[in-house]
Amino acid sequence: MTTETREFQAETRQVLRLVIHSLYSHKEIFLRELISNASDACEKLRFEALSRPELLGGDTLGVELVPDAGAGTLTVKDNGVGMSREEVIENLGTIARSGTRKFLEALSGDSARDAQLIGQFGVGFYSAFIVADRVTVLTKRTDSEGVCWESDGEGAYDIQPHHKADRGTEVILHLRDEDKEFLARERLEHLVRKYSDHLSVPIVLRHDGKEETLNQAKAFWTRPKQELKDEDYQAFYKHLTHDWDDALAWAHHKVEGNLEYTSLLYLPKRAPFDLFDRDQKHGVKLYVKRVFIMDKAAELLPPWLRFVRGLVDSQDLPLNVSRELLQNNRTVEKIKSALVKRALDLLEDLATGKPEAYAEFWNAFGVVLKEGLIDEDAPHERIARLLRFRSTASEGDAAGVSLADYVARMKPEQKAIYFLTGDTLAAARNSPHLEGFRARGFEVLLLTDRVDEWVTNHLREFEGKKIENVARAAADVESAIETPDKAAADSAYKDTLERLGKVLAGKIESARLSGRLTESSACLVAGEHGISLRMARMLKQAGQNNPFPMLPILELNPRHPLVERLKDATGDEAFADLAHLLHDQAVLAEGGQLDDPASFVKQVNKLILEGLSSKPKILLG
Ligand code: ADP
Repeated sequence: MTTETREFQAETRQVLRLVIHSLYSHKEIFLRELISNASDACEKLRFEALSRPELLGGDTLGVELVPDAGAGTLTVKDNGVGMSREEVIENLGTIARSGTRKFLEALSGDSARDAQLIGQFGVGFYSAFIVADRVTVLTKRTDSEGVCWESDGEGAYDIQPHHKADRGTEVILHLRDEDKEFLARERLEHLVRKYSDHLSVPIVLRHDGKEETLNQAKAFWTRPKQELKDEDYQAFYKHLTHDWDDALAWAHHKVEGNLEYTSLLYLPKRAPFDLFDRDQKHGVKLYVKRVFIMDKAAELLPPWLRFVRGLVDSQDLPLNVSRELLQNNRTVEKIKSALVKRALDLLEDLATGKPEAYAEFWNAFGVVLKEGLIDEDAPHERIARLLRFRSTASEGDAAGVSLADYVARMKPEQKAIYFLTGDTLAAARNSPHLEGFRARGFEVLLLTDRVDEWVTNHLREFEGKKIENVARAAADVESAIETPDKAAADSAYKDTLERLGKVLAGKIESARLSGRLTESSACLVAGEHGISLRMARMLKQAGQNNPFPMLPILELNPRHPLVERLKDATGDEAFADLAHLLHDQAVLAEGGQLDDPASFVKQVNKLILEGLSSKPKILLG
């Protein structure tokens, strides 16, 4: 028979090495992962047998553990679906997930940080190489020929046909000398009880000619809640998700009546690396009457809850439900809206009961939850209450500020909820737009996610208070920062402002004085109705059309010496130099890019030299 040797896909090798390395102190999890795969294979067979009962015949689906001290091997065996040759190559030869390369590039070489990151990968089958220096997989699907796959996990694997008689898979681990402990009956029994007790298929240990069923073999979610301990939920979570970490929180519900289902929803602690990969499916597992139907049933939760893991077991859906059927099904719609409520309940409980854990959730997934505000069908009011922000009043507050916190400490004279968006927290905190608000003691929320530009377009009010961008020329913003000497200053600057409008034509809509600024000379603000300047910039960077092309307004601080100089400048060239300089500074402070950076540098240098010379008035003509 022909043996073919194939290389692992390049990324697979790299991930493999990292996984083995970082899991060295948790070797035992290989057993959980392999049993988990074997049990999934049995569930898949049960599903296929719905339409082809002959597949199952009289078989009892299950997993067997066979330690062989003589050969030094541990075998994990199942009579599930098995794999065809193509499936073996696809499943065991690649980590066929888009984004893997990008993920690997993100690794820093700092092993502590990388170990955290690598945890975002499900380890799965590859964990076999933690304890085995060689792994042999014998597998057979019902209608195809058997296959033997073998590898030392270094760089290549061998694959050849194999006369395997029965359907299913055997994973044979050739244990390293130092890992022979995994041949001991007590050790295996203990590990199965610890990690795999909740699986619905029987796990049988074959030892000294005896057979011993190690688990309860009852679907975990069907067991009464009061019987289940936190450790049980955590163990089941790891089986479901292949996550190395514990779950952050969960909610387990059995619902009877019109709609009958059991749901078990988990919040992970960390975001998977492909959370923002549009091609990647996310979602909970779907069971119908305890039979596994599909992984990642995206139809059961909206995209803004795609971080939720877990399962739903419905009594009402037909067993032959397909993806197509899920898309236009009233029962699915009802389950979906029930799950949205359950997920939001879970988040609200966490936010009130365990603010620190909620902060952890928020840091990992807040940016996804926010997308719900853009979804027309989502409960915006509930989502708005779950939002957390940085703000000018919360320097090191890890938990973040909620809109309710903000409203509770608003100044009596304050009319609206104020926010500012920026590319980084530092840029936002130092933005000239904040100065007037800071001077009046008004708190401003600081938003730095890209999605915030869209979110704030949709989130216009909270508890009857308007939500306003401080970098926009809106009435509630203007009135908040009006200065008492405004009228006098306006008339003193009338000519200067008109002149500015002409000199900067094409760059600004108009120029005016503002109470926004207390320290800086100038800033740009967006008109009341256009999109924000940051959003316009983001669209431009993405090569997209701006649907509302509008020029910004240049605002000046009449108390700033440079602005006073501008007023006193008589020569046209001096006026224009200073006007461009003020404008360009405002662009930079706002996070924008200059059309002509070299001229800006020249003008700054000219001004510095003037300042250094003894006759500064020359510049001003
Ligand atoms: P995951 O289970 O997260 O997809 P794994 O690396 O554990 O990742 O496994 C990759 C794939 O290999 C599985 O999705 C499954 O299709 C297949 N596989 C693994 N073990 C078995 C098995 N015992 N029987 C059938 N298929 C299996």
